[in-house]
Amino acid sequence: MFKKALKIGIHISAIILLTVLTQIGGLIYLLTMLFIRRKVFKYRMKRGVVFVLLYGLATAFIVPSLASHFGRERVAASQLITAHSVFYTLANRNYVTPALNIALEKSAVDFQRKYPGIKLVYLDANFPFIDGFPLLPHLSHSDGKKIDISFVYEDDLGNTNNLKPGISGYGIYAGPKISEVNQPAACKNKGYWHYGFTQYLTLGTIHENLSISEEGTRALSLSLLKQKSVSKLFIEPHLNKRLRLLNNKVRFHGCQAVRHDDHIHVQVK
Ligand SMILES: [Zn+2]
Repeated sequence: MFKKALKIGIHISAIILLTVLTQIGGLIYLLTMLFIRRKVFKYRMKRGVVFVLLYGLATAFIVPSLASHFGRERVAASQLITAHSVFYTLANRNYVTPALNIALEKSAVDFQRKYPGIKLVYLDANFPFIDGFPLLPHLSHSDGKKIDISFVYEDDLGNTNNLKPGISGYGIYAGPKISEVNQPAACKNKGYWHYGFTQYLTLGTIHENLSISEEGTRALSLSLLKQKSVSKLFIEPHLNKRLRLLNNKVRFHGCQAVRHDDHIHVQVK
C-alpha cells in the first residue's frame, strides 16, 4: 500500500515538474503512461523511449503550429539572435508574440551596426500556450509579450564575443558599486528575502573572468528601447544610471520581483 502511494506520488511530482519546466512535458508523460501499461515487457525502458520521441516530435513539429492559434511563435533564430542555451528552445520557453519577434529582429539588426558579429542572446521568454499560464519563476511571462535578454559581456582584455559567464544565464550579478544606489540591499531590508534568489539558479559558472560590457549592454538596451512596440525595460536602478539609458520606458520592477542586474527584461504593448 505504502509502495503504491509512493509510486503515485513520484509520478505526480514528475508531471508537475515537467509541466513547470516545459508546459507540455507533463501531459506527454501522462500519455506515455497510459499508452504503455505496466504489464508490457520492459515497460520502463519503453516508456522512456516513447516519452523522448513524443516530446521531441511535439516540440519540433506540433507545438509551433498549434501555438500560432494562441498568437505565439518561436523566437526567430538567426545569424543575429540566439538562445543562451539549447535548454530554452528544447523546453519550449522560447515563444513570443509576432510583435515581440519583430522588435527583437529590428533591435538585433540595429545592435549589429555597432557590434558586428555579436548576437542578441535571449533567456526565458514565454510558453507556447494559454494566456495567464506563467513561465516560472517569472510570473509575468504569461502572455507572449515578455522576454529576458542577456547582457553583453567582456573579458579582461575588453573582448566581447558572446561569451557566457554562467550556465543558466541568470544569477551572476553586475552588482552596485559603493557609490551607487543599492536596490538589492534596500529590498532585502524591507523583507523581500527572495529578491536575490536567482543567485542559486546559475547552475555553475563557465567563464569567471567575464564582466558586463557596459558600452555593449548600453548599445543593446538602446536598440531595444528604440523599438516603438517595446513598452518597458527592466534593469536594476544602479545599471540604469551607470549605462546612462535615460529613457522613460526603463522602469524599476519592484521588490516583489527579483534582481535585474544579471539580465534585461523587455516587454511589448
Ligand atoms: Zn523577465
